Amino acid sequence: MLLRANNITVHYAKAMAVDNVSIEVGEGSLVAFIGANGAGKTTILRALSGLHPLTSGEIWFRDKRIDGMRIHDIVRQGLIQVPEGRRLFPDLTVQSNLRLGAYIRKDKRAVERDMEDVLERFPRLKERRGQKAGTMSGGEQQMLAIARAVMARPKLLLLDEPSLGLAPLIVEELAPVIRSINDMGAGVILVEQNVPLALKLAERGYVLHLGKVIHEGPIDELRDSEAVKKAYLGG
Ligand code: ATP
Repeated sequence: MLLRANNITVHYAKAMAVDNVSIEVGEGSLVAFIGANGAGKTTILRALSGLHPLTSGEIWFRDKRIDGMRIHDIVRQGLIQVPEGRRLFPDLTVQSNLRLGAYIRKDKRAVERDMEDVLERFPRLKERRGQKAGTMSGGEQQMLAIARAVMARPKLLLLDEPSLGLAPLIVEELAPVIRSINDMGAGVILVEQNVPLALKLAERGYVLHLGKVIHEGPIDELRDSEAVKKAYLGG
């Protein structure tokens, strides 16, 4: 198992945001978290990447216990988050943003090789490698945010609402990008309110509601579930 979270609970001060949640992500698999605003999806990602402490529970990543580890050390293990809202450096070029994604790596030659590799994979970024990130469209910026995370050589990539604020046509372009990261061998946790996108990409899914997992299983099961249809697909 790549990642296993056992019975994690997370609070903001006295308010419980995540209530006794357990999650498993297999090597190289793509898992979706779906649920409305405030369901606790972002909070789980923040807990997994060490940005927010657990109240209780354990997180295991590739046979190491990572809850309580420093963020830096978690990143070093290969657990990389692409936060909601992208957080690029708008005044730096595409290429500089990509290079910053690899800041933790010491193998500078391999970083340059990966840079060429990533630019081949994302031709739009290659065309714009010298352009300031802040001047690109929302979809291009999202691609850059994902490509930057790839520069860290993730073993597990956490994607928080990559489709947020993007036009439907652009979201269509994002799907193969996410799939290609997964094809490179990295596991992916995809948080999405765009449920059709999540259902299209993921193998397994967790449906969250008010901090709890209310449904989990293979994606085909979720797709056919009455609860998911009713809540998210207008069925
Ligand atoms: P969204 O899609 O809006 O990000 P989400 O499913 O990711 O929703 P969270 O952002 O994880 O949900 O929020 C879970 C709960 O924690 C909500 O009740 C929210 O109000 C609360 N919460 C989130 N961030 C904070 C914070 N910084 N301080 C206090 N409460 C917070």
